[in-house]
Amino acid sequence: MKTQPVIIVGAGLSGLSIAYELQKKGIPYQLLESAPQVGGVIKSFHINGYELDAGPNSIGATPETMAFIEELGLQDALMEATAASKNRFLVRNDQLHAVSPHPLKILRSKYVSGGAKWRLFTERFRKARKDGGEESVSSFVNRRFGHEIGEYLFEPVLSGIYAGNPDNLSIQEVLPMLPRWEKEYGSVTAGLMKNMKAMGGRKIVAFKGGNIVLAERLLSLLTGPVHLNSTITGITKGATDYIVQYEENGHTAMLNADRIIFTTPAYITGAAIATLDAPLAAELNNIHYPHMGVLHLGFGAEALSKVPAGFGFLVPHAAKKHFLGAICNSAIFPSRAPEGKALFTIFTGGARKEHLFEQLGAEKLQKEIISEFMSLLGLETLPELQHFSEWKRAIPQLNVGHVQIRQHIKAFEQRNTGIQLAGSYVTAVAVPAIIQAAKGIADKM
Ligand SMILES: Cc1cc2nc3c(=O)[nH]c(=O)nc-3n(C[C@H](O)[C@H](O)[C@H](O)COP(=O)(O)OP(=O)(O)OC[C@H]3O[C@@H](n4cnc5c(N)ncnc54)[C@H](O)[C@@H]3O)c2cc1C
Repeated sequence: MKTQPVIIVGAGLSGLSIAYELQKKGIPYQLLESAPQVGGVIKSFHINGYELDAGPNSIGATPETMAFIEELGLQDALMEATAASKNRFLVRNDQLHAVSPHPLKILRSKYVSGGAKWRLFTERFRKARKDGGEESVSSFVNRRFGHEIGEYLFEPVLSGIYAGNPDNLSIQEVLPMLPRWEKEYGSVTAGLMKNMKAMGGRKIVAFKGGNIVLAERLLSLLTGPVHLNSTITGITKGATDYIVQYEENGHTAMLNADRIIFTTPAYITGAAIATLDAPLAAELNNIHYPHMGVLHLGFGAEALSKVPAGFGFLVPHAAKKHFLGAICNSAIFPSRAPEGKALFTIFTGGARKEHLFEQLGAEKLQKEIISEFMSLLGLETLPELQHFSEWKRAIPQLNVGHVQIRQHIKAFEQRNTGIQLAGSYVTAVAVPAIIQAAKGIADKM
């Protein structure tokens, strides 16, 4: 059988953008995808004039992401968020509080107590930790800022990105600049003030027609073979190449390849490489992808005066609600809802709330969320649109121990030349990071 230069496994955003970057360099590839469509967790729906995204809702685009979108010819489909998107809210005592990440603005807000503000203000005088071992977010933040700042600021923000638990998430993985600033400047706030300008420059964007447009455009530009309904089941080492086994439309098939790039979730990649490295396979299988739910609610005109003028709001775990936060889609991308109506995307589950699915069941859980959500915003008329998407295994948790997993992945790739592990648990979960990582992978080849 002819040996293929590169097999890419998985046609989510990682696989599609790697294929696109390889194609630009003239490197032939074949793409294997188990689903009947591409996009992975990018999923868009259209219901009664509402545009819903069950996966990524918005993209914090860097200048590089914007250049990539232009290169794909997607400018006309691009929507930039309204100015209101700069406003962010957090919930405490059943009220929404406008909060800015700027330490001086937090000091002026009523969101945290005087004691917490004092801890924030005096952070720069606190001794820096000498040893540089991996540490949980909670341990790092409690050490630098105290418990309240951790519970009411860091916890909700990280649950908005990872749906994670700060007691387990690794600060080196999810907020690597913080321990770096502690080391470099002796203080996180000093590092933040010095780097604030450089950290700006992102635009919040999304695509007209739903974010699936990005995956579909990438697919339409690919000229190499894309095998849909093709599920990889394992790989073995041949004399000079690798043999990839997969099921295509129910039939067993095989391909020989010099290089294999896995972009599948860690537990799928782990199962496929088990015969080559059982301990790494077990580690990959243990990476937690918590159960999540995405509830879309559409409200009639009554809601318009009650929609927070901002990106959305996050709910600290301490507020004891059944959901993690909400995006005010129609406030930032008005065309996501019919004229005069309001659309929200509400997230539930995640590392700290996934037990709710078992405890209540999806239907009761939605009821609880709707009741809490409406009471928080003072809404009285029930939503005219309700749509629930479940992700049984949603976002990889970059928990303490992930730094070591990375080292094991690197060692595995060195021992098995030609195999590369990619995907959100290797790069980062955010869309811009995935696009950027694809360029890096193609450059290395
Ligand atoms: C609910 C949710 C909300 C999010 N919100 C945002 C956001 O607002 N902004 C942002 O920047 N990011 C967001 N993200 C993160 C971002 O969307 C993801 O990190 C990114 O899309 C992951 O892409 P991927 O290609 O690495 O993985 P995936 O999308 O998981 O793709 C992996 C692909 O592999 C395929 N596959 C699985 N098993 C096999 C097999 N055996 N053989 C062949 N193929 C297989 C799958 O079908 C899938 O297509 C969100 C993620 C989720 C889940």
